[in-house]
Amino acid sequence: LETEPVTTGEAATAPQPIAHDVSPVALGLVLLGAVVMLVSLFLPLGDSSDFVRVANNKMLQHSESWGIAVLAVIAAGMTYRAYKLKRRSWAAIICGLWALGMAIHMGQSDSLLQVCSTTVIWDCEKAGAGLGIYAAGLGGALTAFGGFILRAAKPIGEAEGASPSLADMPPTKTCPECAETILAAAKVCKHCSYRFEESE
Ligand SMILES: [Zn+2]
Repeated sequence: LETEPVTTGEAATAPQPIAHDVSPVALGLVLLGAVVMLVSLFLPLGDSSDFVRVANNKMLQHSESWGIAVLAVIAAGMTYRAYKLKRRSWAAIICGLWALGMAIHMGQSDSLLQVCSTTVIWDCEKAGAGLGIYAAGLGGALTAFGGFILRAAKPIGEAEGASPSLADMPPTKTCPECAETILAAAKVCKHCSYRFEESE
C-alpha cells in the first residue's frame, strides 16, 4: 500500500506553500479514529443471541471490511504527513466519512450479516450489527471529525494579526489645501506646508 509518496525532492524545489497552524488535537483524533477502525477488524461482525458460537464472525474474515483498514492507514498516514508539513489535507475527512458509510452499509447488508451455526449445517439467520461495525463507524466518525479540525487550521501568522488593521493605524486627517492624507497630530502639511490652526 503506497500512502506516502516520495516528496523529499519535490518539497525542496517546489515553492513553499503557506504553513498552517495544524492542531495536535486534529492529528490525535484522526490517529485515534484510525486505531479504532483497525481494532474493529478483530471485533464481531454480527451480533447474534441465538447462536452461542458463530462461525466466521470476525470483521477481518470478510473482505468487505478490509477497505476500512486501508482507509484507516491512508487517513493516518496522510494526516501525519500534513501535520509534519503544517499543511491542510482532505484525506481524513474523505477516508473517515467513507469508512462511516461502509460501516452503515455493512450494518444493513443481509448477506454479510448472515450468521450460521458451527454445529448445525444450514442453520443460519440474519444477525444484528456487531460491535465491529459500530467500532468501524465510530472510528470513521472520529477520523472525519479530526479531519474537519485539520481543514479549519488557520495560516500561521494570521491569528497574531501580522498585517496591522485599520484600528491600529494612527488617526489621520485630510489637508484642506492639497487634499493629501496626513497624520491628525500634524500642525504643518508635509506635502504643501499648509499650516493648521490649533483648533483643526
Ligand atoms: Zn497639504
